[in-house]
Amino acid sequence: MLIDDYNRTIDYVRISVTDRCNLRCRYCVDGDFPFISHTEVLSYEEIIRFVKICAPLGVKKVRLTGGEPLARKGLPYLLGELGRIDGITDISLTTNGVLLGAMVEELKQAGLKRVNISLDTLRRDRFAWITGVDAFNEVIESIKRATYGGLSPIKINIVIIKDFNDDEILDFVRIARKWDHEVRFIEFMPFGDSSLWNSSEIITSERIEEIIRGKFELVPSERSDRGPAKVYDIGGGSGRIGFISPVSTHICAECNRIRLTSSGMIRPCLFSDVEYDVKTLIRSCKSDEEIKEFVRGVVKVKPEKKLEMGMIRKCQRSLMNIGG
Ligand code: SAM
Repeated sequence: MLIDDYNRTIDYVRISVTDRCNLRCRYCVDGDFPFISHTEVLSYEEIIRFVKICAPLGVKKVRLTGGEPLARKGLPYLLGELGRIDGITDISLTTNGVLLGAMVEELKQAGLKRVNISLDTLRRDRFAWITGVDAFNEVIESIKRATYGGLSPIKINIVIIKDFNDDEILDFVRIARKWDHEVRFIEFMPFGDSSLWNSSEIITSERIEEIIRGKFELVPSERSDRGPAKVYDIGGGSGRIGFISPVSTHICAECNRIRLTSSGMIRPCLFSDVEYDVKTLIRSCKSDEEIKEFVRGVVKVKPEKKLEMGMIRKCQRSLMNIGG
């Protein structure tokens, strides 16, 4: 088992399959962002080997992210192979949804059951401003196709940013009811365009919850998974609301994950720029046992918790590289 020095069991790996993305979200990417060369990106076979090494250590859950995971060719192949690994019981995907609609069937056949889709606004002009691309309609179409295609649950991730979309909080709650999906508000973290992020201007989950409770009843949900989200049913209707508060609170005690970046670095804590190079081991013919030992060592040094809100600094790398 992977147990760290603070007694947390790590059973979840988030894998960034590419640093490429078809959107340029301002809160994620900061200006120029040199891509990693293709040879530096882990191949699917290398990712599969890494997961095969982690599964006997107790890893059960894998999430594919990026960059935009669906922008990498052949993703259904990777999904299918990961799903065949003994011990892996849950594979999920985080996507911006632009390419999802056309791929729903193929992804389902490869074994995908559920999906998280990022959507920060319900207005087409705002979508184009924040992402740099006029693809709002494609994302809405993808959500419909994923719904009718039977992917479930569908979770919609929203980053609330002051003066950008903080007037849409209640609209998103209405959407959660209408579509019967889980809408999750994620606090704005210190990545991307630094002019947007200021720790004193973060709209905390507490504040968002207060705004929602002004209009809707929120009842703690029994359908909540183990993880950092606080999940509520919406009184008198369908749909759920989740709050993920990585900035204002220490959800670190519940942290059960490590990240594998597209360039093959293990990142034990999202908020710390410290990373450990597993790609070099994979590419230098080290044995599975040696790599297992390395992973155990990395988990041991997972930080206990991130800094306090006012002390958090902007992270050096964009979430696109790390895998959000
Ligand atoms: N391209 C995929 C997508 O858009 O879902 C996966 C990668 S994206 C980096 C993963 C998640 O990170 C998205 O839900 C995005 O909203 C979130 N994200 C990016 N930058 C963020 C920030 N500064 N604060 C909070 N969440 C952020």
